[in-house]
Amino acid sequence: MPHTTSSDAIELDPISAALGNVLSLLRADDRGEVADYIPELSTADPSLAGLALASTNGRLYTAGDADSPFTIQSVSKPFVYAIALADHGLEGVLAHVGAEPSGEAFNAISLEPGTGRPANPMINAGAIVTTSLVIAESPTERFDRILGVLSAFAGRQLDVDERVFESERSTGDRNRALGYLMRSAGSLVSEVDDAVEVYFRQCAVLVTAKDLAVMGATLANNGVNPCTGDVVIDTTVAEQVLTLMATCGMYDFSGEWLLRIGLPAKSGVSGGILAVSPAQYGIGLFSPRLDERGNSVRGVEISRVLATRFALHAMHHTERTAPVVATTSVRADLSVVTVQGDIEFAAAERVLLVLDDVASGEATRPSVIVLDVERVTKCHPVAIALLDAMAARLRARHVSIVVADPLRRHIVPSASNVAASVDAAVAHADQLMHG
Ligand code: GLU
Repeated sequence: MPHTTSSDAIELDPISAALGNVLSLLRADDRGEVADYIPELSTADPSLAGLALASTNGRLYTAGDADSPFTIQSVSKPFVYAIALADHGLEGVLAHVGAEPSGEAFNAISLEPGTGRPANPMINAGAIVTTSLVIAESPTERFDRILGVLSAFAGRQLDVDERVFESERSTGDRNRALGYLMRSAGSLVSEVDDAVEVYFRQCAVLVTAKDLAVMGATLANNGVNPCTGDVVIDTTVAEQVLTLMATCGMYDFSGEWLLRIGLPAKSGVSGGILAVSPAQYGIGLFSPRLDERGNSVRGVEISRVLATRFALHAMHHTERTAPVVATTSVRADLSVVTVQGDIEFAAAERVLLVLDDVASGEATRPSVIVLDVERVTKCHPVAIALLDAMAARLRARHVSIVVADPLRRHIVPSASNVAASVDAAVAHADQLMHG
């Protein structure tokens, strides 16, 4: 939680400061082991820990090693599933890959009796079939298409880690075995080697926690990348992908993950986790040590803290009053920022952006802003902490906040200027400005 007295909270924006705080709580957790069944993965620095959050308004907040590259591994699966859905539609894809949580390990050899379909596209068997469904003239073209889409999701051109690719290719017999089984059962229609090679290459694409956050924000934003404005996939496909992530994304921990954290997510064996708060955020996490199910230990713990503190669980509902933030200019040098409704993390982020905008007003350079919270129905602790951190940040920039709060609910606890109405707050602001 950001605190007003910390110099970090003043230098950083309050949300990055809050993320840094959560990360620092969990840095010391050194449980788990770095994956080594793909030999090259074992060279990862186990101490790395990065966290990034991208909002659907295109803002990015980061903490720790959010720029450290790692191979995307299984986190590629939902995005390739998106391409297959775009190419064949849901029915066309369901004919080859199911949509049921398998309850088994990511590399399990279990196919649906009768049809030979793999249980879902988030386990290796399902992902290999999904990759083969991407329409292309050749395996090379298929991979280029996949890389193009992953890059569009991330908003930058991504590359492949050739060493990890070679390492997996030379040791990936279990995935080849899955391929042969599915080919004999009829669910894999392409050549095994072609499908598996493209799959290994897609797993070796390099990303950062920041990239995962933007990729998640694109899913959260109906398939439109909020940083570049590119339409990457359509809304229906984004919904379908998020649904499969919610039910099957975290290996055989998917049910408990949904119960505890409540967000569609996907993890990978290099230590990445992508979590999505639909309509609001993409969250990217990276820390290489894995638990026995193959999920990043610190990634899961950080997600748990974030979900609780930021009230992100998808089944959590605020009251129905839509949060509103509006600005009115009383005069050129004085604005009133009015906040209304239930303020939780997402609404608090909007208030912060509006306050920052008003405070940076090029022409006017205001020294006081009135924050009207009279019609705030509820303010979640994370919102109070963020607003307070923002007030401290503004004070450091010589901008005071006068809070219009007739009920004295301490929505900005450190505020020394609190008035009983907007009029009284404006009068108080005048006094501060003109003595
Ligand atoms: N390339 C890895 C494999 O197929 C991906 C596994 C994962 O991240 O779960 O074994």
